[in-house]
Amino acid sequence: MVVAGRRKSIAFFIALGIGLIGVTVLLYVGWGLLNWHHGILLVLGVLLLLVIVSGVGLNTAFLVREIRRNEQHDAFINAVTHELKTPVASIRLYLETLQTRPVDESKRKEFYRIMLDDSDRLLATIEQVLRTGRMGAVSRKLNLSRIEIAGLIEECLTRARALHSLPAESLKFRPGPPVAILGDADEVRAAISNLIDNAVKYSGSEVNVTVETARVDGKFVTVRVKDEGPGIPKTELKRVFKRFHRVPGPLASRVKGTGLGLYIVRSVAKRHGGRAWADSEGPGRGSTFVLQLPIAQ
Ligand code: ADP
Repeated sequence: MVVAGRRKSIAFFIALGIGLIGVTVLLYVGWGLLNWHHGILLVLGVLLLLVIVSGVGLNTAFLVREIRRNEQHDAFINAVTHELKTPVASIRLYLETLQTRPVDESKRKEFYRIMLDDSDRLLATIEQVLRTGRMGAVSRKLNLSRIEIAGLIEECLTRARALHSLPAESLKFRPGPPVAILGDADEVRAAISNLIDNAVKYSGSEVNVTVETARVDGKFVTVRVKDEGPGIPKTELKRVFKRFHRVPGPLASRVKGTGLGLYIVRSVAKRHGGRAWADSEGPGRGSTFVLQLPIAQ
């Protein structure tokens, strides 16, 4: 309902903008035809016309952008509320059960495991939101150290295999020549983990993810995270790195998320003098996310 309402207001403002530009152009063309012999007035009129048309165009673009941004903020608040509430509700339910009923040893262990998983999920969401806040603070300095990139990736893969209960063959690593970077280990680890977590969570039940590293021109190292999941439409390849942006459609409602992960990846890349981008052959044909960082000299 809300989305339909917003779509209508976007359509309304675009129609209003185009309508106003049309009327203004018509008025000025008519006015110009009537006063063609007053040359200087005609020039001034055309200039004024250009100013008005650009003003209305800018105004419309601004309004539409603001409506879209509002839409994304709402979706983000909903997603975060859901991601915070669900694990807490689940932990509370298990605690209540443990408190009110006698539970045998194996069930008790199972409950503890579920509660630990839920608290991990909760911590991950909180960490993601806090990290996004920190990324916004321009003054925040990088805690630089020399990082062997292969070792850091192995660390992220071990964590991801444990977190998603995956066998080693679902999450493969093909390291290129050994390379070190000068970076903030905490930030680079978060960026690589976000890419691996996305590749796993958007793959669904068939997880087949490969992480590769390679040297580029002796100056950069690229970390490629490839999956065989649902892929990304060409028009969305850049947008997915925007804060709060999630590709609209059934996938977004099936797989929960906040739209912050790739924004963090891009921010980390930029802060380290590198870049991040996505490639995909299109829907259903998997995705490849690339993080490129400068090599330590
Ligand atoms: P989140 O996963 O929390 O929604 P991200 O910023 O990590 O936020 O990702 C933004 C969007 O990009 C996702 O909502 C999803 O639509 C798309 N996306 C990210 N990674 C993948 C992937 N490996 N395969 C398909 N779509 C992806």
